[in-house]
Amino acid sequence: MQNLPFRSLAGYLIRGTLGLALCCMLAVFVVQVGLMLQHQKAQFQHLVDEVAKTSAPLLSVSLWDIEPQAVQQQVGVIADRPEVGYVLLMVGTGQQFEAGDVQLRKEPGSLRIPIPAPQGGKVIGELLLWANPQFVVNEVRRTALSVLVGYGLFTLLICALISYMLRRELQRPLQHLAQFARELTPQTLVRPLVLDRPPRNHSDEIDLVAHGFSKLQNGLREHIHNLDQMVAERTQQLQALAEANHQLSITDALTGCFNRRHLEERLHRELERARRYGRPFSVICMDLDHFKQINDRFGHACGDTVLCVTADRLRGVSRSQVDWVVRLGGEEFLIVLPETDETAARHTAERLRHLLESEPVRFDGQSIPMTASFGVAQIRPEEDGSALILRADALLYQAKAAGRNRVFPSQ
Ligand code: GH3
Ligand code: MG
Ligand code: MG
Repeated sequence: MQNLPFRSLAGYLIRGTLGLALCCMLAVFVVQVGLMLQHQKAQFQHLVDEVAKTSAPLLSVSLWDIEPQAVQQQVGVIADRPEVGYVLLMVGTGQQFEAGDVQLRKEPGSLRIPIPAPQGGKVIGELLLWANPQFVVNEVRRTALSVLVGYGLFTLLICALISYMLRRELQRPLQHLAQFARELTPQTLVRPLVLDRPPRNHSDEIDLVAHGFSKLQNGLREHIHNLDQMVAERTQQLQALAEANHQLSITDALTGCFNRRHLEERLHRELERARRYGRPFSVICMDLDHFKQINDRFGHACGDTVLCVTADRLRGVSRSQVDWVVRLGGEEFLIVLPETDETAARHTAERLRHLLESEPVRFDGQSIPMTASFGVAQIRPEEDGSALILRADALLYQAKAAGRNRVFPSQ
């Protein structure tokens, strides 16, 4: 959103309504004043007609009888009316009678009433009437005040009502929605949106927005949940793959024994531990006797089977979780025996030798006899892992040289 200045929608609507109401009030005021002026004009004309009907005959008689006092009195009575500002009676003889505010005589807009002779026919005078401007002003002021008070109160009440409704129905719920949206994070998505509004038996646009909001929230929550689940599944798959990969990288594909790489990584660690705790630690180097002949006589596949069976037997004889078997290469294996001294290791080797010799491998309906030679060595204080294996390997070759199918050193 652009960084525009904030303007409250409700405030804007209230100001707009108030402005419009004031304009309407002004228009009504102007129209009312216009109508009032028209009305006053018509009223004055009506008064003049009435004077012409009632006072003109009396004046006519008084003029004809030459009674100036009576004439002046009648002129005064006419001028006493609040609507009349000034009265001038001009007689044909040049005589003049007047009453009221003489200043008005210079103003235009007087109404004339001819005064005929009592017996009719000849006009003996003319009566001129000026309206009382103060009376008109007072009437207009009264009207204006009633318009201002009446419409003003009405406008104020309407504006107050609209303001209250807008605040309650629009401003507060919208502010609530905005604040809710501002505070929404993936962690607070579960928080439901509750609008602070009195209960009602209908819904409006705000409810539609709130409903849409809740739907969006639920959708997002579900989406995030799915994503979390997907991430967890993928992580699990990746971990399994990494584990499988690691297993592949440290195992020999044919026999499932550990490979040299794993030997290098692990042997040093386990030797350190044995040294630290002063524990015995031995290895057995084993090589199948005349394995080449098995390959040559029964085929390479048979040789592979013999290697696999041998590996199974090596694992079977050694202790699970403690001992571990490495294929050093070809038909040569290494059994690592932690917590084992040379005597015990020799016994294990002997058991293995006996097992291999006494149980020929079955392959393709044939019985494949086989034997193996063993070199057994226990770690010495000055030795490292490589030296230990070299010594065991040397002993193995001594066993080979001594005629094969034996354990070296012998009992
Ligand atoms: P020795 O008694 O002196 O150990 O004789 P040997 O025949 O067992 O030893 P040699 O080193 O002469 O021959 C080992 C043979 O093992 C040679 C090689 O073809 C075979 N070989 C090595 N790796 C594998 C394998 O993975 N599968 C099969 N089938 N044969 C293998
Ligand atoms: Mg061999
Ligand atoms: Mg060999």
